[in-house]
Amino acid sequence: MTTEPFSINRLVIIGVGLIGGSLGLALGGTGKVSETIGYGRSANHLARARERGAIDDWSTNLKDAVTDADMVMIATPLRAMPDIFSELKLYVNSNCIITDAGSAKQRVVEAGRSLLGDVFSNFVPGHPIAGLEKSGIEAANRELFVGHNVILTPCNETNTRALESVIALWTEVGATLMTMSSEQHDQILALTSHLPHIIAYSLVSLLSKNAIGDSEVSDLAAGGFYDISRIASSDPIMWRDICLENREQLLYQIEDYQKMIDSFASLIRLGDAKALEVMFEDARLARSKIGERR
Ligand code: NAD
Repeated sequence: MTTEPFSINRLVIIGVGLIGGSLGLALGGTGKVSETIGYGRSANHLARARERGAIDDWSTNLKDAVTDADMVMIATPLRAMPDIFSELKLYVNSNCIITDAGSAKQRVVEAGRSLLGDVFSNFVPGHPIAGLEKSGIEAANRELFVGHNVILTPCNETNTRALESVIALWTEVGATLMTMSSEQHDQILALTSHLPHIIAYSLVSLLSKNAIGDSEVSDLAAGGFYDISRIASSDPIMWRDICLENREQLLYQIEDYQKMIDSFASLIRLGDAKALEVMFEDARLARSKIGERR
């Protein structure tokens, strides 16, 4: 994958929260972006993002923000993106590169194709595989993307100039690039990220239903529970949107997982010690390989 030297005049970040704010912070001081403008709905949040150095200036008017932009990064929750596409089409110049950071890709691509009109060929769908269970500008940090993968899911229409510029943007902040189809992205992420979040949220809900108010129960939530439930602190709006935007793939993985739970339940019911041991040993071996790779 080629990397063009990266330099742009006006970068606009739509949604200056954890991901948008971290990107702005990481680019600040590189001297590669002349000005970074934030767009959002809350003047207070945007003012705070400027105070933290994530953006140079901001606007709550999309037209003002994106006029003359060379690149627009959309880092809002997924379901806000279609309306943003419809408006962007009206205001950006025909060379403006548009990209996003959304955690599911197929529906974003479909929305872009139907709403961005002629500038769809400048759209490079993306997803940084970096994040936190925290959200908002206060959680943003300039190192967030260093050493992490960013997946781009260009389509047939995507022009090479746009793709190379977005590759250069992410390379500048220390990320490693991968490309794949949006279908493949959604299949893989449903299993590696979206299903684990559903499992974490459901475990915490189960504990809560079974008396988390009872201090003995919560005090005795062991280290394993704490580890596996950490991601259940993630933003509810973001996860609502990911579940709905990747629903087919996620439902498929949830059904597969239910079968796996059923297998464990039946072995436990049968008292099949040997088969349980084999299942744990196989999983332990698979887990150690994941650990080695990271
Ligand atoms: P966040 O809540 O920290 O930030 C989102 C920002 O978008 C907020 O400032 C919010 O006010 C703003 N916003 C919401 N609706 C808007 C609208 N209609 N117009 C303009 N601004 C709007 O969320 P985040 O964690 O930065 O996630 C942003 C995107 O990145 C999501 O699509 C998410 O799927 C994706 N993503 C998140 C992570 C993660 O771990 N948090 C990782 C990779 C990708």
